[in-house]
Amino acid sequence: MPLRLFNTLSGQVDELFAMDGKALRMYACGPTVYDYGHIGNFRTFLQIDILRRTLALLSIPVRHVMNITDVDDKIIRNAAAAGIPIAQYTAPFEQAFLEDLETLKVQRPEQLARATEHIPRMVELIQKLAAAGAAYQTEEGSWYFRLAAFPDYGKLSKKDLSGMEDGARVDVDEYEKDSARDFALWKAAKPGETFWDTAIGRGRPGWHIECSAMAMEYLGESFDLHAGGEDLMFPHHENEIAQSESVTHKPFARHWMHVRFLLVDGRKMSKSEGNFFTLRDLLLKGYKASAIRLALISVPYRHQLNFTFDGLIEATNAIERLRTFHQRLVNGNFAAGSNPALQDAAKAAQTGYLAALSNDLNTAEARAPIFDLVRAANTAIDQQQLLVADRDAILAVLASFDAVFDVIQDSDAEPTRRALEWAEKAGRLADVAPELLSRESLTGETIDALVAERTLAKKQRNFARADQIRNELAEKGIVIEDSKDGVRWKRK
Ligand code: AMP
Ligand code: ZN
Repeated sequence: MPLRLFNTLSGQVDELFAMDGKALRMYACGPTVYDYGHIGNFRTFLQIDILRRTLALLSIPVRHVMNITDVDDKIIRNAAAAGIPIAQYTAPFEQAFLEDLETLKVQRPEQLARATEHIPRMVELIQKLAAAGAAYQTEEGSWYFRLAAFPDYGKLSKKDLSGMEDGARVDVDEYEKDSARDFALWKAAKPGETFWDTAIGRGRPGWHIECSAMAMEYLGESFDLHAGGEDLMFPHHENEIAQSESVTHKPFARHWMHVRFLLVDGRKMSKSEGNFFTLRDLLLKGYKASAIRLALISVPYRHQLNFTFDGLIEATNAIERLRTFHQRLVNGNFAAGSNPALQDAAKAAQTGYLAALSNDLNTAEARAPIFDLVRAANTAIDQQQLLVADRDAILAVLASFDAVFDVIQDSDAEPTRRALEWAEKAGRLADVAPELLSRESLTGETIDALVAERTLAKKQRNFARADQIRNELAEKGIVIEDSKDGVRWKRK
């Protein structure tokens, strides 16, 4: 079955296929590792994971490249403030990002590419742009792309660029303005800033050139699909096209996929709005990794999704229903034979599921027939009408559902454990939901830290918090004893 996917460039739903008849070559813009990602960022990575997994289900091999932006203005500023090299500043955030992907069961791309490890490729590309008359250097040593050199500018975002002023420049990487400007390819180092000493001067790359250089390095001058969040369409992706096609004179990517935003109360979830949750925030509140995954993938990528806690609870319940049903099938004793009505129901569910996914990754429509099947099969089990061959057929449907959705297989304990361990180190124990502090999940170190926090609270005469900690621990069977040689705790 072919996969049909909306293509921002053509403005219509097109078949997605591998140009070389072998593997589908795709590039997805990755994170800027200056902080922890929020779940809006992860919605985008999750929807790209849905694409990857659907391609696998349809037996289309993939070569997927994702960049890690490990140098930019914020990183340089924050590392300088911390008095450490940028690589030391970004390493823990890159690590956290990869761990968060694992928590959400987002499959790793075949190739991760750090910007700082590809500077020579970027310099080369800028030199080629200069040779083609599409790049110029300013007096202070920065390089800019000359928009006037690329008449096709705007073809992706369909922006009307009339009134564009030749030579007007912008050197921030993200800008909202409709009017396009010559944009920075290379930023000359200001005093005290991190720089690379290169043939085009001392400085560092702009964000846009990173993606052009790394995409072409791993996927060639022309490849199949380029993906990212909707905010990247303009100017980031438009600029990538301009830079790449001005040098190659070939279409950069044929197909463009843009994942729409995760919203909070109708506004984009973002760091700057301050309306964000990180994955760790939600795990510490007691939500399971699988529920967060399901909530973020159940609304198709073409629609914006409003984040709510009710949505997480709905996802939690849906997963519970699926897992209970799965257990019922695996552990039940069924009579030999097959029930034609259930065989038909299983086939219909599988067909409906695949059809919805191949139709522009419609995850909402893909879910529905699976839940219909669960309902029908549960009723049949109650009436002893589900037979061995039906169980096998339905298990096969669930396996193909989980090949993409990946929520039935329960591996929720580990991410929660990791988040608690992290909270302990990061001093975030106060944010941990009481029900998580159960005897099973509570390590000795966690209890020590809570007891220490209580002692400090008492010292600061914050008796409400001190009592709250004592009560929460008591609920989990841990008693605190204040004795003359200090505070002790024990498990009841
Ligand atoms: P960043 O780390 O800011 O470069 O963003 C990483 C990815 O997350 C990009 O593809 C963004 O388009 C995407 N993104 C940022 N905010 C949101 C949001 N609220 N909803 C969905 N995707 C987002
Ligand atoms: Zn990019």
